[in-house]
Amino acid sequence: MKRRRFGPTGFEVPVIGLGTWKMELDDRAEATRAIHKALDLGMTHIDTAEMYDTGEVEEIVGSAIAGRRTEVFLVSKVIPDHASYKGTIHACEKSLKRLNTAWLDGYLLHWPGSPPLEETLHAFETLREQGKIRSYGVSNFNLEELKDAVRISNGRIACNQVLYHLEERGIEHEIVPGCRELGVAVVAYSPFAQGEFPPKDPEKKRCLEEIAKARGGTPRQVALRFLTREPHVFAIPKSSRAAHVAENAGAEKLELISEDLERLDRTFPKGKYRKDVPML
Ligand code: NAP
Repeated sequence: MKRRRFGPTGFEVPVIGLGTWKMELDDRAEATRAIHKALDLGMTHIDTAEMYDTGEVEEIVGSAIAGRRTEVFLVSKVIPDHASYKGTIHACEKSLKRLNTAWLDGYLLHWPGSPPLEETLHAFETLREQGKIRSYGVSNFNLEELKDAVRISNGRIACNQVLYHLEERGIEHEIVPGCRELGVAVVAYSPFAQGEFPPKDPEKKRCLEEIAKARGGTPRQVALRFLTREPHVFAIPKSSRAAHVAENAGAEKLELISEDLERLDRTFPKGKYRKDVPML
């Protein structure tokens, strides 16, 4: 799996990773096999959060990666309700325990909230100095909020994790170019619109199928390849099935030509500028 520089961190992270939201609803043995498959294929960026079923998903991930911890670029998130200075330190320690690990590779503020950002980022810095996290970032931040975070952290923000799929390209107006300029990675969440894929519209479906056929891939691989066409963009599709994980990993090998990109751009228009960042 190809890797790319992850913002200012100096870490090289796979273009396609693995999401874990709602994994607790799936068969646990199958989900564990899917995580192992992802690691086998080099999809080592695993994204989780304390919020996912109040920590149960972190426990599933923790037991699945036991014995393979050093292979993983493990990311978790703190919710704004816990993101005061003390709250963040405490939340991180709880996540580490559930994940059965001594460190996280990335720790994110799940979305902007009421504790002053200075407090959360100060806590992230303390955790980094203690070796409990190796980098930190944000999620669901608009460009203004992101610029504040970059300024307060002296340029340490690794990524902004945001909603991005073919039918929700809102971040292309400001976030994608803004992150490029700031040197921050974009991590696309819900790249398959939470499973609403392929789109129902026959023209959109046909577009994906025809490009997939022409390039020897699948419609999902076309979608992931399109979303990660810029070198600072990553994607974290969730799957609890090894076969699906393997399909998603295959996206990085697909080559889209400029006509494909233009057709996708026309068929899935990015829509009008909106200041807010789209989120679930
Ligand atoms: P998603 O990745 O867009 O879609 C997941 C759905 O697609 C699941 O139902 C999965 O089913 C299915 N799927 C995946 N690969 C497939 C394949 N090759 N063939 C058929 N079905 C496939 O949705 P998401 O879970 O919302 O987003 C991904 C991750 O982003 C989350 O898991 C989470 O880690 C993160 N996230 C972050 C935020 C945030 O606020 N920061 C918000 C939402 C999500 P199977 O499991 O059966 O394969």
